[in-house]
Amino acid sequence: MTARAEVDVVVIGGGATGAGVLRDLAMRGLRALLVERGDFTSGTSGRYHGLLHSGARYVESDPISARHCIEENAVLRRIAPATIEPTGGYFVATPDDPDDYLERFPSACAAAGIEAESVPLDELFRAEPLLNREIRAAYRVPDAALEPWELVDANLASAREHGGHAWRYHAVIGFERDAGGALSAVRVRDERGGEEGTITCRTVVSASGAWAGKVAALAGATLAMSPGKGSMLIFNRRMTTAVVNRLAPPGDGDILVPVHTVCILGTTDITVPDPDDVHVTRDEVDALLRDGEQLVPGISSARVLRAYAGSRPLYDESDLGTPGHDESREISRAHHVIDHGRRDGVEGLWSIVGGKLTTYRLMARDVVDAVASSLDVETPCRTAEEALPAPATGTPYWLGDRLAALEVSGGGNAELICECELVTQQGLERALDERGDSSLDDLRRTTRLGMGPCQGAFCMPRAAAVLDARRPGAANASLRGFMAERFRGTRSIAWGDQLAELWLSAGIFRGTLAAGELVQTPPEASGVERAAR
Ligand SMILES: Cc1cc2nc3c(=O)[nH]c(=O)nc-3n(C[C@H](O)[C@H](O)[C@H](O)COP(=O)(O)OP(=O)(O)OC[C@H]3O[C@@H](n4cnc5c(N)ncnc54)[C@H](O)[C@@H]3O)c2cc1C
Repeated sequence: MTARAEVDVVVIGGGATGAGVLRDLAMRGLRALLVERGDFTSGTSGRYHGLLHSGARYVESDPISARHCIEENAVLRRIAPATIEPTGGYFVATPDDPDDYLERFPSACAAAGIEAESVPLDELFRAEPLLNREIRAAYRVPDAALEPWELVDANLASAREHGGHAWRYHAVIGFERDAGGALSAVRVRDERGGEEGTITCRTVVSASGAWAGKVAALAGATLAMSPGKGSMLIFNRRMTTAVVNRLAPPGDGDILVPVHTVCILGTTDITVPDPDDVHVTRDEVDALLRDGEQLVPGISSARVLRAYAGSRPLYDESDLGTPGHDESREISRAHHVIDHGRRDGVEGLWSIVGGKLTTYRLMARDVVDAVASSLDVETPCRTAEEALPAPATGTPYWLGDRLAALEVSGGGNAELICECELVTQQGLERALDERGDSSLDDLRRTTRLGMGPCQGAFCMPRAAAVLDARRPGAANASLRGFMAERFRGTRSIAWGDQLAELWLSAGIFRGTLAAGELVQTPPEASGVERAAR
């Protein structure tokens, strides 16, 4: 069916920022529609490190961002507690970390409003026995782990409650202008069906992250994005109970985040010309493991489940220095609200770029304040006061909650599809009730299917059967797409035990299921899956 709609504001991008913008617009009474070219949260928001920043990482390099992080850290704990595991965090000085950084750290934290409490080393090693015994100082900060998929879903659900709409698998491919030159419509393409359509609107907000330069170019505006690829490694268990950061200027392999049943070591930072380039190289894996040894000795021989990467939505601030452009005096250095009407003569287009996932709500507030004012809407922002809807499954991190959820869906008799992440058939059916067109990779994002130690080797055939019962014929392409994405994440870490497991899962998929021979029907595969091939 050809897409057609008429709204006040089109939001481009279904990551944390776009979902936050949609919610904020809808809560202020504006008719808003979000379009996302892939699945929701399939961009950088679903490929990040998992950390609700306290801001302490940025106290030296970017104090404005540090302040934003600590303020939003408190807001998110209030409005979205079910998406946060309050692990706490440590900043630790290893023998290689600079003395002067250590000396300045407490006062820099105090200046940014971040509580940093010195922790005696015996207490640190009691709490975190795997940490490097050569660590010579430690501070406790309010870092935490933050679940991005549920956070984005909660924002979209809240937006819908206030009248907002969101379409996934709809890519923006162009814009239309009225007689005065202002944007009047957005042209979209259904990425699964191929049809094109038009959404008539008064204003467009591009929350397309690292792709914001490409989206601006479609409208004839320029935006100097400088995507920074960051790679991370997922280990098969939690090695620490809290987030652990090195007490040094940001580098590779210097943060370890416990997330659900695993932990994530990251990140590298490499400028790439194309934000879709998220392939992890063997050199990056080596760099992460080498530097990770400073935090947890022996980590380089621990079992890595998967490597993945995301593109930082970095904005080249020198772009602001172009003569005639005065935003640099008005906007924050942490994130940037760009009015392309004033800047490039493209009336009705706004971009929101930079920032962190931790600060998505603040970014949304700032751009919606500007857009609302341009549309003469005076309703103030309420997103910091009104709590987000809690996920149906309860707190996802605590085993007790996960087992209780299992009891609700049949207890000991529940049909377990994914043993690692305790995903039941009922849970999958519920996810398919909500989004019937989901692929297996989409279900991974909504249910955590296949995210545990077996990485889908055992659960995917069962999940494919559930999917096929719903949409006969859907399983083949979806299984191939899932496999491509999983194997992309294991190629650069294929050695030792992990190589043996790769052989096993390749045997199951290629041998038992003959997946290499499955007929492929492209519309079933998500954008991410297509990119992975
Ligand atoms: C390696 C790494 C680690 C990070 N770790 C942390 C961390 O621990 N904590 C933290 O707070 N932040 C972290 N960040 C930063 C954080 O992830 C990002 O700032 C945040 O996720 C950006 O969200 P977004 O919604 O702006 O962009 P995205 O999530 O990328 O969303 C933009 C969306 O726009 C869509 N899109 C693009 N073009 C089009 C089009 N033409 N039509 C329709 N849709 C389109 C994309 O598909 C994408 O889904 C990290 C970033 C990286 C890269």
